Amino acid sequence: MMIKFDNSYARLPEGFYTRIAPRAVAAPALLAFNTGLAEELGLSLDYAAMAPVFAGSELPDGAEPIAQVYAGHQFGGFSPQLGDGRAVLLGEVIDPAGHRRDIQLKGSGPTPYSRNGDGRAWLGPVLREYVVSEAMHALGVPTTRALAAALTGEPIYRQEGAVPGAVLTRVASSHIRVGTFQYFAARRDVEALHALYDYTAARHYPDANGPADFLRAVCAAQAELVAHWMSLGFIHGVMNTDNTALSGETIDYGPCAFMDVYHPVTVFSSIDAQGRYAYDNQAHVIVWNMAQLATSLVPLMPDRDAAIEEFTAIIHAMPALVDAAWLRRMGAKIGLKEATEADKPLIEGLLERMQAGRADFTNTFRALTEGAARDQFLDPAAFDQWEPEWRARIEREADPSALMQASNPWVIPRNHRIEEMILAAREGDFAPFERLLSVLSKPFEAQPGVEDLRRPPEPSEVVQQTFCGT
Ligand code: AMP
Ligand code: MG
Repeated sequence: MMIKFDNSYARLPEGFYTRIAPRAVAAPALLAFNTGLAEELGLSLDYAAMAPVFAGSELPDGAEPIAQVYAGHQFGGFSPQLGDGRAVLLGEVIDPAGHRRDIQLKGSGPTPYSRNGDGRAWLGPVLREYVVSEAMHALGVPTTRALAAALTGEPIYRQEGAVPGAVLTRVASSHIRVGTFQYFAARRDVEALHALYDYTAARHYPDANGPADFLRAVCAAQAELVAHWMSLGFIHGVMNTDNTALSGETIDYGPCAFMDVYHPVTVFSSIDAQGRYAYDNQAHVIVWNMAQLATSLVPLMPDRDAAIEEFTAIIHAMPALVDAAWLRRMGAKIGLKEATEADKPLIEGLLERMQAGRADFTNTFRALTEGAARDQFLDPAAFDQWEPEWRARIEREADPSALMQASNPWVIPRNHRIEEMILAAREGDFAPFERLLSVLSKPFEAQPGVEDLRRPPEPSEVVQQTFCGT
C-alpha cells in the first residue's frame, strides 16, 4: 500500500497536537471509495484491500497520526480547548498539481481531546458528510472531500439507540481553523502563534505580506464561500469558529442542509434555538468569526493599537465583500453577468415573492431557465408581476440562459432524501447512497429517471430534527 506522505504539521512544535494512533476496530469493511479523488491525489491504491486502513485498524506506511488541538467559539461561547476528539490526521500528500492535502480519519477513536465523547462517528453522519461534501464539490464550492467510508463492525450508542460505527476518510487543504489561532492566542503563547501563522501563511496565502494582508485574504475567501453557500440555499448549521477553516473550504458537515422552500430564517440545527446559524445570518456570522481571527492575530503585531485599528478596518470592510459576492452570484442565477447595486431590487423582489409564495429555492431558480417558474408559487400572480421586469432586464445580457444553467443546479441533496438514504443504510441497503452520489456528481445536468430526487418534501417528509450529526 503506497501513500507518499510528507507530514509537515507533525513537524510543528509538540504543543500543536498529540501523537496518537487510530484505535483498531472489530471488523473493518469498506463502504465507499472515491476513485476520482484518489486519482486527483495521485494515489494508486488497491483499495479493496484497504478496509483496515480506512477503518483505522492499520496504519499505512509513512503515516504519523496526530490529533490536532484547537479552541473555538461554540454558539458564541468560548471553549479554550477543543481539538480532534474523534479524528486523527494520518498525514499529508502533495497531489500532482502540487497542492498539499491532509488525509484524516474521522470517527477513529478517542483522543486526549475527546472530553466526554466516545471518539466515534456513526454510519448516518459519515454517509451524510460523504454525500453532501462530494455534492458541494460537484457544485463548485470549495470543500473538504470524502475519500472513503468504512464500517467498524462495532455498535455505538446515540440518541437513535445502538447504531453502526463508521469512519470517514476526509481530505482537506488543511484542517487549520480559526479556533487553531484562538487556541494559542488565548494561552498567550506568542511564539507558537508566530509558528502557526508562518505555517498557515506559507501553506494557504504565500503572497500575503504580513498578518493584516493574511487577514484580508482569509476574509476574501470566506466572503466568497458564504455567498456561494447562500446562492445554493445551503445552511452550514454549526458555523462555530472551530468549524471555519483558514483555507476557505467548507468543513464539518453536521446538521447542514439545503433549503427546500425559500425562507431566510431557516434553521437546521435543533440545538440552535436562537437561530444564530440561520440561512440569512450566515453572512453576519462569518464576519463575527473573522473578527475572532483578527483578535487572535493581534499579538503577532509589534504595535498593538495600530494593529487593532488596521484589523478593525479590514473587518468593517468585510460585509461589503460578502454583499458583492452575493450580488454577483444571485445576479448570475437570474442571468445577469455583472449585476450591480441597481439590480438588487430585482433579485430581492424575486426572493420576497418566493418567500410569500412558499416557492422551492432550487427548483424555482432552475425553472426560470425553462420558463416554468410561475408554477412554483402558491400564487403565480406574484411571479407574473415580477417576470416582465426581469425579461426587460435580461434583454441587455449576451447569453443569460447559459449563465443560468451554470448557476442553478438541477438537483441538490435534499434533506429528506439524505435521511431516507441513512435509514436504508442502517438496514444494510446502500443503493440509495450510491444513487445519490452518482446523481449529485452532475448536479447541473438534467438527468432522466431521477425526478424523485428533485421533488421537495411532502409535509410528512420534512425532516423535523437534525442534531449535531455526531
Ligand atoms: P463538532 O460539533 O463535530 O464540530 O465537534 C465539536 C468538538 O467536539 C470537537 O472538539 C470534536 O472533536 C468533539 N467531538 C464531537 N463528537 C465527538 C465524539 N463522538 N467523541 C469525542 N469528541 C467529539
Ligand atoms: Mg468541528
